[in-house]
Amino acid sequence: MQAATRIPGTFVGGLVLLLLVGAPQGCGPEAEDQTEAVGQMAAEQGEELGGEDAGGAEVHWGYEGEAGSDRWGGLDPSFAVCDAGLEQSPVDLTGAIPGDAAEDGGLDIQWRATEAEVVDNGHTIQINTAEGSSIVLEGREFALVQFHFHLPSEHTVDGTASAMEVHFVHAAGEGDLAVIGVFMEAGDADPTIRGLWEAIPGPEDSPAAVGALDPGTLLPEGRGYFRYQGSLTTPPCSEVVSWVVMTESISVSQAQIDAFAALYPMNARPVQPLNGREIRLRT
Ligand SMILES: [Zn+2]
Repeated sequence: MQAATRIPGTFVGGLVLLLLVGAPQGCGPEAEDQTEAVGQMAAEQGEELGGEDAGGAEVHWGYEGEAGSDRWGGLDPSFAVCDAGLEQSPVDLTGAIPGDAAEDGGLDIQWRATEAEVVDNGHTIQINTAEGSSIVLEGREFALVQFHFHLPSEHTVDGTASAMEVHFVHAAGEGDLAVIGVFMEAGDADPTIRGLWEAIPGPEDSPAAVGALDPGTLLPEGRGYFRYQGSLTTPPCSEVVSWVVMTESISVSQAQIDAFAALYPMNARPVQPLNGREIRLRT
């Protein structure tokens, strides 16, 4: 994909992009070149990230209608776990079991400002980040690869959704991912979001470089979080995600929410059954 050629060697998001958002550029015929390029990168990185079958990469999917989220499992054999899985995401965060983060090693966020680029991939606005930011979750290190947005939020708390949710996607070996979700509520405008929205390229344009970006500016002050095991929230819905969802929200302006909604008025999968999974609360 073009992300890799623009700044060689610095972007590692190819397969994660593929896993999380499938075929870029709205699945249309105009997307063929980039889809092919992403597929090629996936093949190159397949071994590194666990050899995930990329067979469904070119299957059109969306959030409503014939290819909507209630039909993903039947769109392609590689999407079957979207229907059949027992550890799917998102979920309603309720009934969490409180505890001290020291019990399991907790979360250490080690992000820093790195080069970044913005892409409209046909399912969301995604920011690919260069190497250099990572987290240590429960003793295991994951590298930040990209972050992207959903409207409304995918996770809910006691049945209530937020205006938006940002997902910071981190990868470790063996294809395992750790994603940090942060709720976004209407309030004061966010200066980082302002810069990102201004840089959004057209859906058929190349990713737009935005220079050095510190993703930490999009974290809430409080470091409490919900923690559970789940899946990608987009096809192929792979159950490889250690989820962290921050309990505090960040604020963005209603105009910033509206600007995203003008591009993606609804790109949230509904909450999925817990099927006995535990949600822990770390404060
Ligand atoms: Zn997401």
